[in-house]
Amino acid sequence: MFSSAEIGIDLGTANILIYSKSKGILLNEPSVVAYNTETKNVVAVGKEAKEMVGKTPRNVIPVRPLRDGVIADYDMTAQMLKELMKKVSKKSGISMRKPNVVVCIPSGATSVEQRAIRNAVKSYGAKDVQLIEEPIAAAIGADLPVDEPIANVIVDIGGGTSEVAIISFGGVVSCKSIRAGGDVMDEEIIKYVRKEYNVLIGERTSEQIKMEIGYALIDHPEEKMEVRGRDMVNGLPKTIELSSKEIQSALRESLEQLLETIRATLEECPPELSGDIVDRGVILTGGGSLLKGMQDWLSEEIFVPVHMAPNPLESVAIGTGRSLSMMKKLQKATK
Ligand code: ADP
Ligand code: MG
Repeated sequence: MFSSAEIGIDLGTANILIYSKSKGILLNEPSVVAYNTETKNVVAVGKEAKEMVGKTPRNVIPVRPLRDGVIADYDMTAQMLKELMKKVSKKSGISMRKPNVVVCIPSGATSVEQRAIRNAVKSYGAKDVQLIEEPIAAAIGADLPVDEPIANVIVDIGGGTSEVAIISFGGVVSCKSIRAGGDVMDEEIIKYVRKEYNVLIGERTSEQIKMEIGYALIDHPEEKMEVRGRDMVNGLPKTIELSSKEIQSALRESLEQLLETIRATLEECPPELSGDIVDRGVILTGGGSLLKGMQDWLSEEIFVPVHMAPNPLESVAIGTGRSLSMMKKLQKATK
């Protein structure tokens, strides 16, 4: 007899992670699916599909079905998940048939969106699908004591969405979600380069620029980077040199929006929990928190300690996987 596998899925807007408590991270791939527009067949998923972005022939389109934090394209999400779960069972030898699955969902997800996610996972044959709110999963993954009456603030900066949540006693006390994260930063860089240099760069290039010379709003020694794009005047390829200072200015607006959201959430904190927040501060997670200088900048701005989660790109998936046994414990305790 096989016992069912227990797995956690972080259905992120930029990356999907699958985690099993016994084997750790089984899969970590971009949430991208490429399909043929004529046959509607899926051509590639995950890493392979992301490599195709901006490079495909006309009849193959790479899409990010979760881009804005909800399942915008239900069919594509379901197909993507199916292919990724197939990959996992092949690679890890763990049977993905009838697994018990916990999926983490953005706090702001509507019941229709929640159902869509549940159905997408069930369509692969999952036995039991439970949903967990993303900030709780992030907190569990970051080793915070979520089941105690202590307030923790989680700032999760993802690709398409970012969430700021105050949690206490295993529940969300207050939460704000914005449809902005690393993707918006990439878009701002593209806009900036187009406006200042008349050069068109692709999404992948702009993400690389952000990761290499992007900074939060702090002082730093200037860095330069050469990038290639298409000259919009003559249509020819062109190489330009960008400086970290100008990229910083391009990111200013989206960073300020994030800061505003954090401030607004903290202002909503019940007074009894304020003391905890002053002592314990804020935990940063999500890939966007890896932007250089993010931790220092936020500490300067919000006057409470700011810590990084041990593994910002993985803490939600780890917490989702671990939450299975915690849920059982909690269920037992309340019986
Ligand atoms: P999601 O949970 O929405 O899938 P992730 O937490 O996986 O998002 O974060 C993805 C985002 O993090 C992307 O926008 C990516 O460009 C950004 N990111 C990843 N690494 C870095 C880095 N070193 N510096 C800045 N941004 C980063
Ligand atoms: Mg995430």
